[in-house]
Amino acid sequence: MRVLIVEDEVSMANSLKAGLEAEGYLVDVSHDGLDGLWRATEFEFDAIVLDIMLPGLNGFLVAERLREAGREVPILMLSAKDGDLDQAEALDTGADDFLGKPFSYPLLLARLRALIRRGSSRQSNVLTVGDLRIDLAAHRCWRGDTEVELTPREDALLVYLAHRAGEVVSKTELLRHVWLDEETDPNAVEVYIGYLRRKIDAPFGRASIETVRGRGYRLVAGPAPNDAT
Ligand code: CA
Repeated sequence: MRVLIVEDEVSMANSLKAGLEAEGYLVDVSHDGLDGLWRATEFEFDAIVLDIMLPGLNGFLVAERLREAGREVPILMLSAKDGDLDQAEALDTGADDFLGKPFSYPLLLARLRALIRRGSSRQSNVLTVGDLRIDLAAHRCWRGDTEVELTPREDALLVYLAHRAGEVVSKTELLRHVWLDEETDPNAVEVYIGYLRRKIDAPFGRASIETVRGRGYRLVAGPAPNDAT
């Protein structure tokens, strides 16, 4: 489970991060509304803990823009202002739940768990590219009726390519979005593309991950080998 915390009070953000990590969550932190919005748009999270009063862009606007962009990630909004108006506004702009500061940590955790549960049952969470199916929540993948076992890195790489199916994706983009580190040796991408091909393509007579020379890779639906008409 990956959670994004957008909170400008550094000590609050750090203690939330430490607490959630102790519960086994992967946690990203942003101290600014614009940066938070960017992260929430670029990466997949299971939930976002979003403060209202933020530099850059306030929490209401962050939530609103995420919903406008079609992102359904559950949002738990935090605020020091514990008024009814605030709460109504938070829920109006697309937050799923609201917690007034100061809050107890166990309460936050319970509300977050409930949100993540609701979120994963609400969204369909399945990406399809031809007869390739990827269940984003369960981290499972099938070619036709055959389940394919992927490592977490292979899964993340395939999910990113599937989100951008039909488009050319450069190695730099893959390093940024899948490795989260553009300094990684680009050969790592080639190696993992090779692993994926051996799992989702070769055994099924497919070539769904195309190499576009000098530009990157493209995941395509492609015909099944037995319907070459
Ligand atoms: Ca704040």
